[in-house]
Amino acid sequence: MLIVQKFGGTSVKDAERLRNVARIVTDVYKGGNDVVVVVSAQGDTTDDLIAKAAEINEKPSRREMDMLLASGEQISASLLAMCIQKLGIPAISLTGWQAGFLTSSAHTSARIRRVTPDRIKKELDQKKIVIVCGFQGLSRYDDITTLGRGGSDTSAVAIAAAMHADLCQIFTDVEGVYTADPRKVKNAAKLKTISYDEMLELATLGAQVLNNRSVEMAKKYNIELEVLSSLTRAPGTIVKEANKMEKMLVSGVAKDTNVARVSVVGVPDNPGLAFKMFSKLSAKNINVDIILQSIGRDGTKDISFTVAKDNAKEAAAVMEDYASAIGAKSVLVDEKVAKISIVGAGMESHAGVATKMFEALYDAQINIRMIATSEIKISVLIDEKDADAAVSAIHSKFFDKDN
Ligand code: ASP
Ligand code: MG
Repeated sequence: MLIVQKFGGTSVKDAERLRNVARIVTDVYKGGNDVVVVVSAQGDTTDDLIAKAAEINEKPSRREMDMLLASGEQISASLLAMCIQKLGIPAISLTGWQAGFLTSSAHTSARIRRVTPDRIKKELDQKKIVIVCGFQGLSRYDDITTLGRGGSDTSAVAIAAAMHADLCQIFTDVEGVYTADPRKVKNAAKLKTISYDEMLELATLGAQVLNNRSVEMAKKYNIELEVLSSLTRAPGTIVKEANKMEKMLVSGVAKDTNVARVSVVGVPDNPGLAFKMFSKLSAKNINVDIILQSIGRDGTKDISFTVAKDNAKEAAAVMEDYASAIGAKSVLVDEKVAKISIVGAGMESHAGVATKMFEALYDAQINIRMIATSEIKISVLIDEKDADAAVSAIHSKFFDKDN
């Protein structure tokens, strides 16, 4: 079998952890498999490099940032190769470009265009364990690029796709994907399987186990992923296509506190105003999430929407200008809100899921301020101070046996 194993920053953070990874990888190799290992930079290395750059230049060029950031993965890859060699097993580390990663030239957020794994194959044929620097590639101008934060998950999936790997394992510091944050919710349980679409929703909702793009790519090329811990080696969570399994009514509850609500009050009730309003935001590249419009009364209506917290000030400024241009009454911003969502592939064919979620919030006396739904997700906006209580109440409603 050809197995791709990716290890995140915490799994390779020091010599002891590297030795642990070397044991995992060599065990698989000794079982007669070909192994390609993808590594992230050790621990906080990438953050530290970004801080170093900021000390020198507060607006560093993106090309030079990529040159700098790519060095982090080179450290962990070469150290891991040495660690495996020390165990008497042949290993070689390759940079992203040696491994054949061709990317767009959008420095610091490049997209993978093609992976040509000739060199990887050659090294595997010589019975070596191949270690590839995640997160990096080469543009067509022969410049080093990086794939954006958390990009080494995507590197691993891209190699698995290009080489038709039999298995792609993503090792991290949690044992898998849980029904809620296990540090906060006491009965949170590890999921055996989750669909790509649910995982994508949870990734955007801040579950933070897998990078979004890696899940999109896994879905596109139908690569099954296993998310598991490098420390316990317990079976993890398999991410795969939904139709291969029982669709869970609700797979998980997620909390997102990186959200703010902007309301434009007293908008004249005329056609075209919503269109113009949201065009102004998209022109500034501000992503809008939940939108709520009140019923028109006395010729005016209110329009509220949510954005990421770091966009709140800019969105409000854009809306202030717009409000005065169209004669709306005022613009209100609330940054003390949180979005709580439930995700489940089985929801589209079952009634009553939303009711159950709202009942849990009612039981906990938590006020809902906005609601948004999609086929596999229901989100509510609530006060930030109620966020943890809301997650617990909803989780217990759906997952505790006595409910
Ligand atoms: N080292 C990079 C980062 O910290 C890439 C990764 O970890 O996936 O974002
Ligand atoms: Mg990561």
